Amino acid sequence: LLNGTPRKNSHPVLDNFRVEKTTLSPDLKEDEVLVKTLFLSVDPYMRCRMNDDTAADYLLPWRLGECADGGGVGVVEASRNEVLATGDIVTSFNWHWQTRNVINGYLLRKIDPRMVDGHLSYVLGAVGMPGLTAFLGVREKGHVTPGANQTMVISGAAGACGSLAGQIARLDGCEKVIGICGTDKKCQALVSELGFTAAVNYKKGDISAALRESCPRGVDVYFDNVGGPISDTVISQMNSGGHVILCGQISQYNKDVPYPPPLSKETQEDLCSKNITRERFMVLNYMDKHEEGLLQLSQWVKTGQIKVLETVTNGIENMGVAFCSMMMGGNTGKQIVKISD
Ligand code: NDP
Repeated sequence: LLNGTPRKNSHPVLDNFRVEKTTLSPDLKEDEVLVKTLFLSVDPYMRCRMNDDTAADYLLPWRLGECADGGGVGVVEASRNEVLATGDIVTSFNWHWQTRNVINGYLLRKIDPRMVDGHLSYVLGAVGMPGLTAFLGVREKGHVTPGANQTMVISGAAGACGSLAGQIARLDGCEKVIGICGTDKKCQALVSELGFTAAVNYKKGDISAALRESCPRGVDVYFDNVGGPISDTVISQMNSGGHVILCGQISQYNKDVPYPPPLSKETQEDLCSKNITRERFMVLNYMDKHEEGLLQLSQWVKTGQIKVLETVTNGIENMGVAFCSMMMGGNTGKQIVKISD
């Protein structure tokens, strides 16, 4: 449950969440489905749902004292829905942070476990919303052209979307893929496990110099997950006619600013003088491309062309722990919470 809201301009803390026992009514109404939760997702957008004003019309705030919800995957235990039967694997964006849920069937999507080679948590990551965000972000806003010798920089590169975006950029024909993230260990994973060309730890040393060294011909495409000073630095090294994929701005989510947060005058001038596009990207605006996107992601994952990294936390009582940790960079790859076997 949401137990409290973070202090103004502050990180979420464990005390913002609490666990309570309740009993679900055993009687299902027409169309209702009883599901057992297998995995739950914690995502950066949830930070906005902790505020009374989420600053986004597609996001409703979580209410104090009420159960939080988000992405989940589970198995049907009983159903009064025509299409869903006991044993089906299903997912929803409206999954309550509960070990069992009674959900209306129309809010559930049935999953073929073969799509994820049996790794059901991937439904919340590489073959789910973060995967689509990386894939459609690159395809719709990246202007990647094979053979054009492009360099792409990705911030938040060791996270769910970033780790996939870099691999997709490479598959789509980027010559160099450079990641920016918060620890040396993450940098190492990007290069040695995921095939990034190089990686920069933004918490150590001079990012500007490190980027200049790994992108000697400048930056053509920037997949921006974080915003703030990191993005100012990347944009200052972009080539004319480049493209920023404005995916997210996590460095600003604990601040009381609108989305997208305003840019510094310098960065704005940089974009303008170099004719760099920076269009807002929203995965939910491409619903018609989701099915095809999931098929492509599934294929890449199954053939091993995309490697999936996950950080798994156990137990419903640790939802708050996992969320706060993810917001502070505790995850490598997708942060998942395993609820039951
Ligand atoms: P991640 O798995 O990337 O987790 C968040 C990561 O952000 C952390 O691991 C941390 O890594 C990094 N981070 C946290 N604070 C800061 C900071 N102040 N400066 C720099 N990095 C920070 O989350 P997702 O992949 O789910 O989301 C990534 C971004 O994509 C978010 O901005 C999110 O809002 C956005 N998004 C956008 C969507 C869209 O439709 N446009 C859809 C889904 C996500 P580190 O150790 O590197 O600091």
